[in-house]
Amino acid sequence: MKARVDREKCIGCGLCTNICPEVFELDEEGLARVKVSEIPESSAEAAGEAADSCPAEAISIE
Ligand code: SF4
Repeated sequence: MKARVDREKCIGCGLCTNICPEVFELDEEGLARVKVSEIPESSAEAAGEAADSCPAEAISIE
């Protein structure tokens, strides 16, 4: 599974990085980015929760 952040939508709230820091981080522009090419199995649930919680609906998991 992969995660994607639509940076056009991201508002830099930091929620995803709090919920799932193994997969998401804020970059120097203050926007979220995905830091792994594949979501580790151990983080799959948290990554899904981050996607569901994102207020900007900027995260997709596929
Ligand atoms: S939760 Fe959504 S809006 Fe907030 S930093 Fe993450 S991707 Fe951006």
